[in-house]
Amino acid sequence: MTDVTIVGGGPTGLMLAGELALAGVEVGILEQRSTPDLVGSRARGFHSRTIEILDQRGIVDRFLSEGRTAQALSFGDTRLEVSGFPTRHPYTLALSQSRMERILLGWVEELGVRIRRGIQVAGLVQDDAGVDVHLADAEPLRTAYLVGADGGRSVIRKAAGIELVGAEATRSHLIAEVEVTEETPSGIRLDDLGIHAMNVLEDGTTVGMVVTERQLATGTEPGLADLSDALVAVYGSDFGIHDARWISRFTDATRQAATYRRGRVLIAGDAAHIHPPTGGQGIGLGVQDAVNLGWKLAQVVRRFSTDDLLDSYGAERHPATARVLKNVMTQAALQRGDVRTGAMRDTISDLLDFEGPRTRLAGLLSGLDVHLELGEGHPLLGRRMPDLDLVTAQGPRRVFELLHRARPVLIDFGEPGDIDITPWTDRIQHVEADHAGTWELPVLGKVPPPVAVLVRPDGHVAWVGEGTQAGLHHALTTWFGEPVVG
Ligand SMILES: Cc1cc2nc3c(=O)[nH]c(=O)nc-3n(C[C@H](O)[C@H](O)[C@H](O)COP(=O)(O)OP(=O)(O)OC[C@H]3O[C@@H](n4cnc5c(N)ncnc54)[C@H](O)[C@@H]3O)c2cc1C
Repeated sequence: MTDVTIVGGGPTGLMLAGELALAGVEVGILEQRSTPDLVGSRARGFHSRTIEILDQRGIVDRFLSEGRTAQALSFGDTRLEVSGFPTRHPYTLALSQSRMERILLGWVEELGVRIRRGIQVAGLVQDDAGVDVHLADAEPLRTAYLVGADGGRSVIRKAAGIELVGAEATRSHLIAEVEVTEETPSGIRLDDLGIHAMNVLEDGTTVGMVVTERQLATGTEPGLADLSDALVAVYGSDFGIHDARWISRFTDATRQAATYRRGRVLIAGDAAHIHPPTGGQGIGLGVQDAVNLGWKLAQVVRRFSTDDLLDSYGAERHPATARVLKNVMTQAALQRGDVRTGAMRDTISDLLDFEGPRTRLAGLLSGLDVHLELGEGHPLLGRRMPDLDLVTAQGPRRVFELLHRARPVLIDFGEPGDIDITPWTDRIQHVEADHAGTWELPVLGKVPPPVAVLVRPDGHVAWVGEGTQAGLHHALTTWFGEPVVG
């Protein structure tokens, strides 16, 4: 029986597979696509926190070398600057989803993850000891845990009986890459229906387009006739569209799974939350789900922790994602050209002349202000650990270097010998260090330097020492299981 099977080899499934493999868990991916190629273009980039997470694993240069960094974070028409935030990656990385997936794939293959392609999962049945995974054209397989990272129409979510809750679709959009016989207008158009956009792609002939439909449609396989109707309604012409490379439909539905876990089945990424692509948040949310879940699932599989730990995955990621989705929904709602929506857009844009609201939104949309509810205390608690320059007995180190193997770390800035975590050193690194600079968090600004921090493999601070060890034993046990006795 495999320890963990992941359904879906998109960004979320690949990232999760890497996390589990790093933690020494046997993991396999089932992917229905028979090749790594993506049909049509999807994401074109991702934001600071996602880049930081790739840096935490020591693979960020692979992505930076293939993409282009830019100040591309925005709320509607307002550009949000992240260049002033205390991070090594104060930018968005423009990189196509297909290239991002290829790089992730290379990484997980190096880590020994097995990917079975051309396998469509049809359903599941779980019991107390494992999950039987039913495949469309092959023998079923059994796994101890199953993760659905199978996208917005997730079969796993449905088979596990998990409901999506939230705002239903009110508008649908066609997105396409097609050839045309007539010249097309370039750029964005807003009207009473919503937003429309066209641009000629890199090959110089194919036109990429997004058109809002006159009436809400939810079918998943639109054709040239649907696109032609939508274009005529907006532009008065279909520009002689032909030879579609890709046509798809998305809506403004913004919904989240009622639970991220049912027994031995978990869901992550688009399988756990659907929303329009406005603002480019999907990859970041999925990658953050993956790094939150990966180490927890590994600890449960390796029997360091009981399976209650898995409930903290949804408890942490659901509210963090809900905040982002609310913002995406707002931006999507403002994408209309009617007078009232225009008035709301202008009002918000006036407010965004002030630095405070701009900084706040930049923190949210870059993912840098993410704060998991781990209780009251020092402002670092639950937040991402900054990538500080440290001086250690082994020489200079960056904090993120200590996270490359996805192992937790206690970074101890106090007197040597004050803190003893010997019973946990089979799973937690203990690094004595100095840091000469200040401690600063995005949006919050400077925070008091702690005497020690316990950093989880996902880079979030699980405990802050301020001169005593109060709460350390509890934090170690909660997150990393009972100590080794004897
Ligand atoms: C037009 C568009 C533009 C976007 N732009 C951006 C952007 O700029 N930035 C950004 O961050 N996000 C963007 N997104 C969102 C982003 O593409 C998604 O959020 C992201 O792909 C989610 O990753 P995932 O791995 O969770 O799911 P997916 O990428 O959907 O991956 C799911 C995988 O599961 C496989 N699968 C599905 N069902 C089964 C099954 N039954 N059996 C086996 N395999 C299965 C699929 O083949 C797929 O490979 C955009 C989305 C769209 C549609």
